[in-house]
Amino acid sequence: MKTSPRSTPPEAPASAHTSLTDIREMVSACIQCGTCTGSCPNAHAMDHTPRQLWRMVLMGEQDLIFKSKTFALCSACYACSLRCPRGLPLTEAMAALKQAAARANVPAFRPSARFYRSFLESVRRHGRVRESEFMTLYFLAMKNPLLPLKFAPLGLKLMGKGKLHVALPTGAGRGALDAIFDKVAELEGRS
Ligand code: SF4
Ligand code: SF4
Repeated sequence: MKTSPRSTPPEAPASAHTSLTDIREMVSACIQCGTCTGSCPNAHAMDHTPRQLWRMVLMGEQDLIFKSKTFALCSACYACSLRCPRGLPLTEAMAALKQAAARANVPAFRPSARFYRSFLESVRRHGRVRESEFMTLYFLAMKNPLLPLKFAPLGLKLMGKGKLHVALPTGAGRGALDAIFDKVAELEGRS
């Protein structure tokens, strides 16, 4: 089968409110070669491989797609986008699925959406993530008093490696990213 040149990839829709139909359009030239799966560093942890996910998108299997944790585990490394022989915007399509799932308040994606929001709220407040505040915001959002216990071993491990800081905020960086966050809110129609 003849493939389209890498120089003319389909463009990702500009709107932040990309629909499943738009996402299907983004991957419509998929030939199911599996290169995305073979390139993905997170495929081993996914319940459906990236190739299978794109097949589900093409078939319009909305329930299956939003029950899957595949797109939530995408770390936006761009390996699949760079190697797809059809030049498809796969990383953008994964991001669009995350946005669609968050907008639809999909139950399986709720913890991930709260995790993202807590991370971004901490970054917005301080100009960088403050790990202890970020996790506190996440635990509050999850409303599960036992959840901190689940994360305690990981927290202790990170502290032991000097990767987790619990110092009080100094105010440095406060408001430094407000303009960027305001612009994103405007683009997403939230302002
Ligand atoms: S690498 Fe591209 S063409 Fe191949 S399966 Fe993945 S999305 Fe489809
Ligand atoms: S961008 Fe996402 S789906 Fe693609 S290879 Fe990286 S982690 Fe996997």
